[in-house]
Formats: sequence, C-alpha cells, structure tokens
Amino acid sequence: MPSRPRSTSRAGRGPSRLVREHELAAQAQAVQVPAKVDVAVIGGGASGLTAAITAAEAGARVVVVERALECGRSILATGGGRCNLANADLAAERYRHPGFVSAVCGKRFLEDVLGFFSACGLAVAEEEGGRLYPVTREASSVREVLVARALKAGVTLARGREAAGVSRASGGFDLELTPSFEGSRRETLSARAVVIATGGGEGSLARSLGLPLVDARPVLCPLACQGLDFPALDGRRTHVAATLMRNGATIRHETGELLFRPYGISGIVSFDLSRNALPGDRLVLDLLPEVDADTARELAMRGGTVGLLDNAISAQLGGRGSTAEDVVAHAKSVGLLVTGTADEKRAQVTAGGIDVGALDASTLAHPGTPGVFACGEAVDVDGACGGFNLAWAWKSGMVAGAAAARLAERR
Ligand SMILES: Cc1cc2nc3c(=O)[nH]c(=O)nc-3n(C[C@H](O)[C@H](O)[C@H](O)COP(=O)(O)OP(=O)(O)OC[C@H]3O[C@@H](n4cnc5c(N)ncnc54)[C@H](O)[C@@H]3O)c2cc1C
Repeated sequence: MPSRPRSTSRAGRGPSRLVREHELAAQAQAVQVPAKVDVAVIGGGASGLTAAITAAEAGARVVVVERALECGRSILATGGGRCNLANADLAAERYRHPGFVSAVCGKRFLEDVLGFFSACGLAVAEEEGGRLYPVTREASSVREVLVARALKAGVTLARGREAAGVSRASGGFDLELTPSFEGSRRETLSARAVVIATGGGEGSLARSLGLPLVDARPVLCPLACQGLDFPALDGRRTHVAATLMRNGATIRHETGELLFRPYGISGIVSFDLSRNALPGDRLVLDLLPEVDADTARELAMRGGTVGLLDNAISAQLGGRGSTAEDVVAHAKSVGLLVTGTADEKRAQVTAGGIDVGALDASTLAHPGTPGVFACGEAVDVDGACGGFNLAWAWKSGMVAGAAAARLAERR
C-alpha cells in the first residue's frame, strides 16, 4: 500500500501536485536506510548534496538525511528559478567573516566550484555583475546533476526523514530519524562522522552537539523605512546609490536597482544593505547616481524633472512651491530612517548560525566534538546577492565532506 505524505500543505495546491507528492512519498519510503555508515549528512540542500558527493567519491559510505520528499528543493527557487550558482569574482570581502571564508575557500574558490560543476557535466554562463548561471537558465538542471552524481557515487538519499536527534556514541554518533510519511516508524542510523548541512534556522541539532550558535536573523530581504510616503511609491523602480550610516559613520555603500514598497524599500540594493542594517540607522539615497548635481540642476532648469525622475518619485520629493531644481537637489540626497527588516518570509538567507570561531577553517570540523562538521548556511556566513551564498554552500560542502570522509576512514 503506497504511503501518503503527512503534510498536505503543498500537496493541497492541486490534484497533479497531490499525485506527485504521493509518488515521491512512496519512492522515499522505499529507500532502505543502512543501519551504519561512515558519514551522515543532515540536510540534502545545496551544501549537503555537495558534501555527500565529495565524501562518497573519497570512498566513504554516505547517507543524506533530508526532511523534504526530494533533495535539493531549496535550489529550485534560487535566482528566480534560474539559479545564480556563483559569481566570477568571489572576493572574500563580499562575505561576513571574510578572513574565515578566505581560510576555508582558499585561492581556488571559483575554480573549485566551476570544476565541481564541470565534473557534474553542467555548463555555466556569465551574466552582468559576474553572475554565473547554468546555461539552461534552469535551477532544476543544477538540482538534477547533483542528485544524479550523488546516486552515481553510491550516496543513499534518505529523504522524507527528519533528523530529530543526534547523540554521541562509541566510535561516532547515533541519529534518530522521523519519517514524514504515515505509518512509518522512527529509524536509527549510526555514523562515524556527521555533517550538519541544515541551512538557516534555529540550529537545534548543532546546539544539542555542543556547537556555539550566533542568533539567527533574516537577511537579503527588504527594509522597513520612514521618510517618504512609501504607499504612494509602491511598485516604482529606480537606480540608486545608497549609503547606510550609523552615528554619522558610513557602514555600507551599494549601487543598483531599488524597488519602493508600501513599507520601505526592496530590490537588490536593499537586500545587500539588510546584511548590515539595524533599526535606527540612516539611509541616504542618491536617486540620480548617474547624473552629477550641477548637470541635474541645469537639465531641470531646461526641461523640469520629467527627463530625470519618475513622476511619482518627483511628486514625493517636491513640496509646495518647490522648483524642478529643488526636486532634483533633493533627489541627490534623500534621507530615510531604517526601522527594521520587512517581508522576512522572502528573505533569501539567514545570518547567524554556528559560530565560525568554533570551527577549524581547514576542515569545518568542530574540534570540541570530534566527528562533527558543518557547512553552508548552517554556519554564520552570509554573502552578498549575486551567487555568493550558493558558492559558499558548494565550497564549504566540499571542504566538510572531504574532511568527514578522512575522519571516518581513520575511525
Ligand atoms: C528565494 C531564494 C532565492 C535564492 N537565490 C539565490 C541565488 O540565486 N544565488 C545564491 O547564491 N543564493 C541564493 N539563495 C540562497 C541559497 O539558496 C542558500 O544560501 C543555499 O541554499 C544554502 O544552502 P544550504 O545547503 O546551507 O541550505 P539549504 O539549501 O536550505 O538546505 C538545507 C536542507 O536541510 C534540510 N533540513 C533542515 N533541517 C533538517 C533536519 N533536522 N533533518 C533533515 N533535513 C533537514 C532542509 O529541508 C533543506 O533541504 C536564495 C535563497 C532563497 C530563499
């Protein structure tokens, strides 16, 4: 009798979706999870699949424990469904804890990521800003090559199972798995090494193993602001130069597209600023970054604001009796107050997670709990928009997977 998925929240969207989930549940339930392996990777997303492939190709017996019915679902939504999988310029400075990222990823960061995907048979193309995509421009291609390579390497993909607990045992760890399909009992799994690849979240498994955590918070998301009539500007897009300031000092400067929303600002500029912004910070926007102040004034004297600014935006910037020159002068320096992040459910990344100070950068091991490794967003590393977060997931997965396989071989 085929099993049914316990959660129908996604399945409730339509009959074909329901049938698909039903099939996936049956396939997941049919997977025989070995009782004992060398490496258990918890989380079958971007970093977990990479860690598992690397460990298995190094000779380890590997299980990926994934709570969803398929591995790599998180990859499908990336880059608007196109998967911006890396960036041509993976400068460590584009990440939190650049020294740590540099020590983990080394000088061949980009080459290693591209080499990994080349070995998967995936062709990559570069777009504006050095953004790298699969040539298919389909995130599903990335997921599929990873899953195929993992299976070819002999990895067991134990999907539809949540790692509910992990504890130390002689020679390694015992994991308790809770299946997500009806009628299935809990399973146990012993592993010599464990890789935590659970993505952004509250980190309860890591905590239970004694790894110190930095509080998680959503980043790469919109910002709530005060200082303009935002509901009146909702949906307007403009190119800006934005400077984030705290106590008079510049914290960050970003240039790019900004989207006004009823609560404040969205778009890539706000996503990148959200990694550093705190309530109470000041944001100064130059809404005409490609036109210097003198030229803008002269153009405004000749033709008003229409050739320089969106009408709704210029209406916001002028008061009663304002001239076109006043409006463009204001546009060069619009002061806003940041009141917090907004629309956090759309946040692309969680900042916080396993404290980088607790990890060995050459292996991503936690020396305090020998046999435990971590990678991806579970670690307190986040990067800018543009492929930096996935690049970290792939490379940190490779480092943790290789080190976990080496340790398992020694045990
Ligand atoms: C909408 C969106 C778009 C994005 N676009 C891009 C982009 O274009 N480029 C880019 O660089 N970054 C992008 N990101 C960020 C990127 O997706 C993440 O940084 C990356 O997926 C992190 O990989 P990860 O393996 O650490 O975590 P994830 O990919 O989130 O994988 C974690 C996995 O662990 C599983 N899991 C968690 N806990 C358990 C448990 N206890 N037991 C079993 N399984 C568990 C989860 O189900 C999940 O499958 C985007 C993010 C979002 C949300």
